[in-house]
Amino acid sequence: MSSGNTPKYRPATTLVHGGTERTQWGETSEALILTSGYMYDSAEQAQARMAGDLPGYVYSRYNNPTVSMLEERLRLMEGAEACRAMASGMGAMSSLLTAPIQQGDRVVGASALFGSCRWLLANQLPKYGVETEFVDGMDMEGWKRALSKPTKLVLVESPANPLLDAVDIAAVAELAHEAGAQLIVDNVFATSLLQRPFELGADWVFYSATKHMDGGGRVLAGAIMGPQKDMEEIIDPYIRHTGPSISPFNAWVVLKGLESMPLRVAKQSESAAILADRMADHKALAAIRYPGREDHPHYEVHAKQMSSGGTMMAISLAGGQEAAFKFLNALNLVGISNNLGDAKSLACHPSSTTHRALSEEEQASMGLDGSWIRVSIGLEDVEDLSEDLLYALDVAAGA
Ligand SMILES: *Cc1c(COP(=O)(O)O)cnc(C)c1O
Repeated sequence: MSSGNTPKYRPATTLVHGGTERTQWGETSEALILTSGYMYDSAEQAQARMAGDLPGYVYSRYNNPTVSMLEERLRLMEGAEACRAMASGMGAMSSLLTAPIQQGDRVVGASALFGSCRWLLANQLPKYGVETEFVDGMDMEGWKRALSKPTKLVLVESPANPLLDAVDIAAVAELAHEAGAQLIVDNVFATSLLQRPFELGADWVFYSATKHMDGGGRVLAGAIMGPQKDMEEIIDPYIRHTGPSISPFNAWVVLKGLESMPLRVAKQSESAAILADRMADHKALAAIRYPGREDHPHYEVHAKQMSSGGTMMAISLAGGQEAAFKFLNALNLVGISNNLGDAKSLACHPSSTTHRALSEEEQASMGLDGSWIRVSIGLEDVEDLSEDLLYALDVAAGA
């Protein structure tokens, strides 16, 4: 409900111009202000700036002009009250999950989450005396039960790692609010261009900017967006004193990545839809999960909240893990990598890599086993990708 600001321009324009501030040189491109500290004209000015009585930068652990431009561009894109950029997605997520909580609080998460997000809930928060619980993201009775008790935070990801599960964001937001909780939505897979969590009732929207925002696989970066009051009173003191600050250089790379994000996400989604349809009937496949296909078990929820199927899909090989490894090893163009949202198409085997820290039972609770491959579709010519993926499926089928 942080949609305090209606941006002046449409998303593609906002992502080119939003937040730009120019120095006295009038540079065209966003300035990279690579500095850790700032100078003051007088002792009195230093005192007033440090006290927050005068505007201005004091130290790049707190903020930096290039980082501010990124935060403002992201804030305008999302229609958020406030945004903070951080060193990585997990730096941002761990701050958001740690700063507001205290002993005795309750945090509920969807069971299908990015591996490290799930780890924080399963392993780190309980050390502080925080009760955490996981709910199958599509099980509304489960959500009602879990949120019948007072709760501080709810974390969902939709579409989720690794199998593109859906969560009905609006329905979970309502239950979360009844339980006194704030809802955090990890919107990395969909991007702000295809799904607008604040409009569905989210209190916080999270991004790993490492993915579609950079888009070229160059830097780690993350961002959280949410209510201004909570950001200033709860998040800012935490990040200032713990230091997950983003390098101005990395912020600058992401700023430039955002300029082309609408073109990239549109093209990658268009290719992903074509490739999912071409692969779907292959005999090597046991199942395919693409949010834009009607055979996705959560298609209706995805269709209700996403404007297209997105850039990601998951496939299950009929021959299990052996066939999945054969498939990966037969790829010539698509790379084996756990990154995603990149210009380069990438495929990974979640159960042995990104989700390997989870026990077999935990993996099974999210529908994951060794047969699954997650694919991120990039910007290559769709016909080259098609030939590569279909060839690897032939190999996996033993053809
Ligand atoms: C990558 C990712 C993260 C973590 O971001 P980093 O930038 O790698 O720290 C969190 N959630 C999702 C869905 C991701 O894909």
